[in-house]
Amino acid sequence: MSELHFDVIGADGPRAYFAQLTRDSIAHAYLFTGPPGVGKKTFARRLAQSLLCEAPKREVLGYDGTCNSCRLFAATEAARHPDFLEHTGVLKIGDSDAALGFYESEELTARDLVRQLSMQSYSGGMRVLLLGDIDFATHHAANALLKFFEEPPRGVVLLLTTSAPGRLLTTIRSRLIELRFPSLSQAQVRQILRTMDYDEEQAQLGASLGQGSVTRAIAALGDDEESLRTQVARWFFAVADGQTPEETWATRDTLDEGLEILKSFVRDWTARSVAGSSAPLVAVDYQQELGELPRLEPVDAIALLAKLDDAQRIARTNVTPTMVSELVRMALTGRASTRA
Ligand SMILES: [Zn+2]
Repeated sequence: MSELHFDVIGADGPRAYFAQLTRDSIAHAYLFTGPPGVGKKTFARRLAQSLLCEAPKREVLGYDGTCNSCRLFAATEAARHPDFLEHTGVLKIGDSDAALGFYESEELTARDLVRQLSMQSYSGGMRVLLLGDIDFATHHAANALLKFFEEPPRGVVLLLTTSAPGRLLTTIRSRLIELRFPSLSQAQVRQILRTMDYDEEQAQLGASLGQGSVTRAIAALGDDEESLRTQVARWFFAVADGQTPEETWATRDTLDEGLEILKSFVRDWTARSVAGSSAPLVAVDYQQELGELPRLEPVDAIALLAKLDDAQRIARTNVTPTMVSELVRMALTGRASTRA
């Protein structure tokens, strides 16, 4: 019998939770929460592979990597196992009767979802549905999911992931078992980057810039002129210099991440102000720009970081992204005026 493994870096809490379950004691629906880029969807895919693996086992976690089912998971990046369905993003209500499968359609409608949830397993085992970065277009779409909880079909496991659980209806959230995925350590981000196509030097830099998030590390490594980090940096250094630059970075999808990047610049700015040029910086690639900023007093730094935390909380409500970025701009500019 081949050895079972579960190839996930980090996520100790969720791993310990599932390690004590059997296939009979697993619940119908889980919600994985935590910051973007810490491996929630990766964990969910490996969990799905574990549940569908044909190797005989009682436990939940672990797959052999060699059975027919595992081969389907390895075949393509988007797994095409007939009993594993994955969708990322907004769930719409929609009333399309078109015979579109889960994969063929860009948009997942609540009706598709209900139909998928009621289908029988192809292999006679379980079915696993992963709804990544779940968001609902309307309350109607969310309500469609409630049907599932009223009468959960046998053998179906629903896995939802989100970095903004506060946006889910409490009627849905209360029926999910919630597991929190913490930020990754710098060493873990480096380790994950090494399993991808990054060499040691890039992995080190990415781990430093990623601050616990693989998504952020990858975004930072791609020195694309239009990467989110580049746009945020351009805006931040101009605002800190007293200018009113055009704001291009704040959209519904990028706001939280953009604010996280701003926080890292403010922390670096603080470190640089306190410890001078010997300060260890996260943004080693913006060393020069940080050095040219005026001194930031610790008391102002604390106030600024608190304002950014506030902005992140507001960003998770339905306030427009532009309004949030404007609040941040005023906080940054206000810092300058108290100094003057
Ligand atoms: Zn297998």
